Amino acid sequence: MKEVVRFELNIQKESLAEKYLGLPTNVGREINDSFQFIPTKVKGLIGGWSGREASCAGREILLKTVAQAVPTYSMSCFLLPVNTCRKMRTAIANYWWGSSADNRHIHWQSWDRLTQPKYKGGMGFRDLKLFNMAMLGKQWWRLVTKPESLCARVLKGRYYHDTNFMEATRKKHASQTWRAVLAGRDVLQHGLIKRISDGESTDIWRDRWLPKHFTGKPITPGDGQEVHRVSELMTASGQWNEDLIREIFFPVDAEAIMQLPIRPRDGDVWAWEPERHGIYSVRSAYKLLDKKRRQEDVEDRPGSSSDGVWRLIWKLEVPPKVRVFWWRVVLEFLPARQVLCRRHIEPIANCEVCGETEESIRHVLMDCTVAKEFWHQVKMLTGVKIPIMHPVTWATDFLTDICSRRDRAIIICGMWALWMKRNKRRHGEQSMSIWKASTWVRDTAFDLWQILHPAKEAPAVVAEEKWKPPLLGWVKCNTDAAYYAER
Ligand SMILES: [Zn+2]
Repeated sequence: MKEVVRFELNIQKESLAEKYLGLPTNVGREINDSFQFIPTKVKGLIGGWSGREASCAGREILLKTVAQAVPTYSMSCFLLPVNTCRKMRTAIANYWWGSSADNRHIHWQSWDRLTQPKYKGGMGFRDLKLFNMAMLGKQWWRLVTKPESLCARVLKGRYYHDTNFMEATRKKHASQTWRAVLAGRDVLQHGLIKRISDGESTDIWRDRWLPKHFTGKPITPGDGQEVHRVSELMTASGQWNEDLIREIFFPVDAEAIMQLPIRPRDGDVWAWEPERHGIYSVRSAYKLLDKKRRQEDVEDRPGSSSDGVWRLIWKLEVPPKVRVFWWRVVLEFLPARQVLCRRHIEPIANCEVCGETEESIRHVLMDCTVAKEFWHQVKMLTGVKIPIMHPVTWATDFLTDICSRRDRAIIICGMWALWMKRNKRRHGEQSMSIWKASTWVRDTAFDLWQILHPAKEAPAVVAEEKWKPPLLGWVKCNTDAAYYAER
């Protein structure tokens, strides 16, 4: 039949059979298939990066700026299937923990935790599902604020001609577009608020209209009350009717109502409460959803009470990859043998270098023979020495005033270098000599320090630079030349 019509009307190309502006056009029941292209694309991108050696901080940036942006456009129009989100999430998590899209590495932390903000101990990755919802909220916001637009009129005619948009329900066989818009409404319900001017169009009991007040509605029960519209709470001159309000509402509601300014404009308007300007933004909606999710998460996770610790980590004056490293040290997310043994991944926990019975993270970084030699060398080069540390809380103690900020930067960079050295050895690769590693630490930490704190402390650093004889088997070439850039 289709073919006959096509032939008779001389239609050569059926436009809805393919993608339009990068989106599938005929999204039907098989919604999973329609969006399969998104995880495939994300995996493809990650596959392309896998060959490169990127540090964890580099991978974080690639994922956040490139991979997470792939589905943005589709997410602004459709509610992506759970399956699609899961596939993307898996690819992203695999790459972050193990630098390829497929290879399984240990995922030390659940995806949920990774999507928490950095100051809460997470890595600040985007929860794709929540982000999708926040994007869809924008569609609903358009319907609310531009009811006269063609799109709003079409949707109203089709789906809620007999009611208002807040009460529209999902009909059977609703299109994916409508499902998406309804998903967006759920988001808006948490933050949409009426700004009162004449109170005519605002329902006291059902609309949100009291800012920062419980759920935005009065907590006084509305059953059996005679007033319905906010306008009924005002006097003829457009002020709050204090006596009436005190009579009807609990004091806490009454206070909130009376504090509300009445705007001298006609008609109440919808506004987006989380933003001061009252206009919807995806960013604030995402934050709102994320906050709600975390409140629902009753389980008190370790670290949830110590926001300060996380903030200090992300402020450390060291390269970004070293900050991520310290985040892993604090959470014990490093495959030291004692950690693996505790997680039943390795049968024995001993240190392969010195034979100590337990190779803990602390052992690798401070107590092992290699570490001791390394720190001795660092002390010779920089004068910095590791303070005496508590056996359990040492990793977070380093973030406090236990040593100066400059010493802390050097020590933490040093520990990163030690950890890298240890991994290379474990994988049978040639690792940096202790001498090279300690000079690297000195140079990196000093360079960064000079960039962050120009002038003042720089001369002290230069003064510590002394001539040293080369190591056995090396030839050192001293030159005697200098120039002044400004002359
Ligand atoms: Zn050891």
